Amino acid sequence: MDIIATHINYYTICHRKLWLFAHAIQMEHTSNTVYDGKLLHETSYSQRAEKHSEMELTAKWDGLTLHGKVDFYDHKHKMIHETKRGKSIEQAHTLQVKFYIWLFERNGIDGVTGRIEYPKLRKTTEVLLSRTDVAFLEETIHGVHKLIHQKKCPETINSKICKKCSYYQLCYIDEP
Ligand code: SF4
Repeated sequence: MDIIATHINYYTICHRKLWLFAHAIQMEHTSNTVYDGKLLHETSYSQRAEKHSEMELTAKWDGLTLHGKVDFYDHKHKMIHETKRGKSIEQAHTLQVKFYIWLFERNGIDGVTGRIEYPKLRKTTEVLLSRTDVAFLEETIHGVHKLIHQKKCPETINSKICKKCSYYQLCYIDEP
């Protein structure tokens, strides 16, 4: 089975979101938040593509195939750059970048760090990977694998992040 960075991200945000995504129920085309995020990604750093390259990473771990696609990697400084819209799901953003750093390590490239940029907030967050993080990622990946294979869709979480989620209509609008 393949585990991708989006699985790690969604597992951190909401188990139901991951389950829906993994079962090919996708509604990102209906989400203004997702559209805004893509626009931000394309416009804020249009010059960046000249200095950074896209990296696709794959590694085998515990019978699973792990995949990550880094949009902007600075080879010279061994740094991953991620652009995000807001900090409401910062923990998920950070774990996603840690997952990428771990994939670099598993491909024999050590010393990679990450930087998450929030252009609208004019803030950046530096990301490093510790051995504790690796243990947490391993535990998370086992959790992702188990959750994806469970038959029942997890319950809604009634969180403030739901209103920004692409599944909001599916989760709440049809409720009586
Ligand atoms: S709307 Fe809320 S409960 Fe539904 S998938 Fe999104 S985050 Fe989870």
